[in-house]
Amino acid sequence: MFDRFSRGTMRRPASVAADLAWVALLAGLISACSGGDDGGDLRPAVLEGHAERISELSKRDDLNLLFILIDTLRADRLHYAGYERETSPMLDYLALTGISFQRHASQSSWTKTSMASMWTSLYPVHTGVLRAQNGLPTDARLPAEVLRDAGFRTAGIWRNGWVSGQFGFGQGFYVYDRPTPRPVRKVERRRTPHAIPGSDSDAIDSATAFLRQHHQERFFLYLHLMDIHQYVYDEDTAIFGTSLSDVYDNSILHTDDLISLLLGQMNKLELLDKTIIVIGSDHGDAFGEHGIEGHARDLHAEVTHVPLVISLPIRLRPGVAITDPTENVDIWPTLYDLLGLPLPPDLDGRSVLPQILKSLEHGSSSPVDRGPRFAYLDRSWGRIERASRPLVAVEQGIYRLHYDGENPAASRLYDMHADPGELKNLFAAKPDVAARLAQQAVKRLSETAVWPEVPTLEIDEMQLNQLRALGYHIDE
Ligand SMILES: [Zn+2]
Repeated sequence: MFDRFSRGTMRRPASVAADLAWVALLAGLISACSGGDDGGDLRPAVLEGHAERISELSKRDDLNLLFILIDTLRADRLHYAGYERETSPMLDYLALTGISFQRHASQSSWTKTSMASMWTSLYPVHTGVLRAQNGLPTDARLPAEVLRDAGFRTAGIWRNGWVSGQFGFGQGFYVYDRPTPRPVRKVERRRTPHAIPGSDSDAIDSATAFLRQHHQERFFLYLHLMDIHQYVYDEDTAIFGTSLSDVYDNSILHTDDLISLLLGQMNKLELLDKTIIVIGSDHGDAFGEHGIEGHARDLHAEVTHVPLVISLPIRLRPGVAITDPTENVDIWPTLYDLLGLPLPPDLDGRSVLPQILKSLEHGSSSPVDRGPRFAYLDRSWGRIERASRPLVAVEQGIYRLHYDGENPAASRLYDMHADPGELKNLFAAKPDVAARLAQQAVKRLSETAVWPEVPTLEIDEMQLNQLRALGYHIDE
């Protein structure tokens, strides 16, 4: 795998590699992945099984956090996760020398519902952020508030209007804004009728400016990238063809390049031995697997199986791959644990740190029965005037039920072990399993937000149309 990784990296066109920082970084990566010594690598090495080094991180008072949210990124399109194309050399490096989560799921297939759950570690029914007009209340205590209060300089740079401050997502950030857009090199927009101005290069530039200014302070930087969502790529580095699916892969490669550039800047600023880097996503994207293109319409694996990588400021050799099912609500409890911050009470998510440490000590962790995983989508999310059409995915053991709250008889059941692509509906064939999981879904649907009130915003039709364009095909 490492040989393939190196060749793939070397073969790529030279426009990005012309940046000297990137070349230095590349040399370090190849050295690391070919088993060379520690000279030039991004992260200082630790020996295999040395779990104490991770526990020691929580005692450090100089650790920063870089949280890169890559909108619309499917886990199964990343090379380290088994995809045959070399779409993701930098993410591969971070995964193979850090902690990767192989069965990780988002809480929705639509940005706002998904991100509200990620930041609060609560399932969607408990955030109440289910539709276009909902926002997070000030009662919600978000990670940026926790980290700001712990002394971090907080900044959020985002390009998706669903996570704007208007919807409550800016709480705790000193700076929370879109980057200034510049002309874009190449864009494919066959799916999205409304373009977002600029590209993720603008976000990387803003992030770099922030780091140059604040690198001597302790920081939490959240970057929300959108080029994959928008099918934006760089013509000079595109190598995967021209179909929509190819363009998606080109866009992943382009995004990976941008992340390399940012890490090159961080390397220059000597931040890489004191920064935890998280790579996550809010949902995937469909290519007709279940008759739908895009996302925000159902909850199948192609739109809910997302990547998660936590890259520590120490290099794990080998990296840890967590194979137990995990979810986006688990991210922040795990990060709080790593940073030595107390976990807020009554979260739906939980820290995976104990499993990570066990994996390091024993080579693998014993499977944990974590109870069911949940995802939620209101299929009327973009139509304020319409009644709710809830869909709940409940997964426990090998089975996953897509419970249709509007028409329970239309629910679907899949065996995720035998049929991970969710192609064979077992709803009629396995009535006992379906009934057991349906009961869990119904219970969830009867629950409400944990806060007394979830803000309802007034959004004008023009703004709503722009925002709707960030999901697709909602006029049904
Ligand atoms: Zn999204």
